[in-house]
Amino acid sequence: MPPFSFPEGNTYRLRNARVPAAFLVAGPPGGATCDGDGAPLLDIEIVSGRFGRIAPAGALDGPEPSFDLAGRQAWPWLVDMHTHLDKGHTVARTPNLDGDFPGARDATTADRTAHWDAEDLRRRMAFGLACAEAHGVAAIRTHLDSQDGGTLRDQAEVSWRVFREMREAWAGRVTLQAVGLTPIDAYGLDYGRRLADLIADSEGLLGGVTRPTGGLHGAGLAAIDALLDHLFTLAAERDLDIDLHVDETDDPAATSLDAVARATLRHGYEGRVTCGHCCSLALQPPEIAEATIARVAKAGIGIVTLPTVNMYLQDRRRGRTPRWRGVAPVQELRAAGVPVAVAGDNCRDAFYAYGDHDMLDTLRQAVRILHLDHPFGDAVALAGPVPARLMRLPEAGRIVSGAPANLILLAARSLNEVVARPQADRRLIARGRLAALPMPPYEALTGESAPW
Ligand SMILES: [Zn+2]
Repeated sequence: MPPFSFPEGNTYRLRNARVPAAFLVAGPPGGATCDGDGAPLLDIEIVSGRFGRIAPAGALDGPEPSFDLAGRQAWPWLVDMHTHLDKGHTVARTPNLDGDFPGARDATTADRTAHWDAEDLRRRMAFGLACAEAHGVAAIRTHLDSQDGGTLRDQAEVSWRVFREMREAWAGRVTLQAVGLTPIDAYGLDYGRRLADLIADSEGLLGGVTRPTGGLHGAGLAAIDALLDHLFTLAAERDLDIDLHVDETDDPAATSLDAVARATLRHGYEGRVTCGHCCSLALQPPEIAEATIARVAKAGIGIVTLPTVNMYLQDRRRGRTPRWRGVAPVQELRAAGVPVAVAGDNCRDAFYAYGDHDMLDTLRQAVRILHLDHPFGDAVALAGPVPARLMRLPEAGRIVSGAPANLILLAARSLNEVVARPQADRRLIARGRLAALPMPPYEALTGESAPW
């Protein structure tokens, strides 16, 4: 974009903003002109740093200054509801030499054991948050490795303490939630109860991964129903929502998602459970997948798809080109009424060597990997309103009158132009003001500095 002569202060109008309808609470206002993607042309009032009236272009006037977006897109800040801020940016010191899931699991264990003290966690998590904020991410849910630390040290205590510090320090900028992540067999032990107490004290979510400690996703754990009963009971006793890593594999014998749906219904936990990954669902016989999807819908489970990481980890064998994309059947889930969000997952760690905490990039990739185009429909909902609803954040991921005015302004007029380019020249409005949020330099991860 050319240099902006943007209004000073935090009360003004944006004129001729193209806003995808999914970002509007009540859809396009009556009388607005919509483009081929159904996105209306709007004027947006910003009053004392908050959204005011939202009306068809030309319908608002007044003495306050205004800025003409000339039909370019204006988006709310996006929501990344499945990340691993505690693992992030470790790839240089502890690479995953095979690039596959067992290699990732083992490299992560080695890195955690060697490095994860409070200072290390603080530096890497702050770096990740600064990246996210500079890209226009309003809220993040992170999983925190919380398996039994044994006698070495109690990793969960350290990680959750640093997370609580971060949540407070970043309040009002990036909203943070956390989930305790442990292989699900922990919930058959006394450790599971202690972890649930730590999570409840930290106002987090109960979580886990549906594979055994040191094992892989695959043919069901024999005790999966009993373990889920323990987990759901611990959650209900403490009034905690649940967020699980489920069936992250190409093995169609992995059917934990159905077990989670059954447990959700058995415990009356409808609307309080999220499942991430669910890759094997795409490879199961249609009648089995359809029955599972129907039960997931009935249980009100939200699904999070992590396409960038699934494409990286799934179907990886040295010397062989991957044959499948590794992603959950997102279109079928959405068609059945299941809320589906897209999220970034790992960032520059053993599970995924790349990434930059950029939800707009994640969405652009998701559109192409999952074929969420021709037409785009409400594909953008996966990165804004759906994750905001699953995270219970009524003011995030949409443009809501009265909410803090956080916007991403794009040098793109249509969704095609958004998806085609990386949008590196996006501009951010934070709490009503044009914000200059530089990307943190990589040197910040090691305490070095170099002019750039
Ligand atoms: Zn994950």
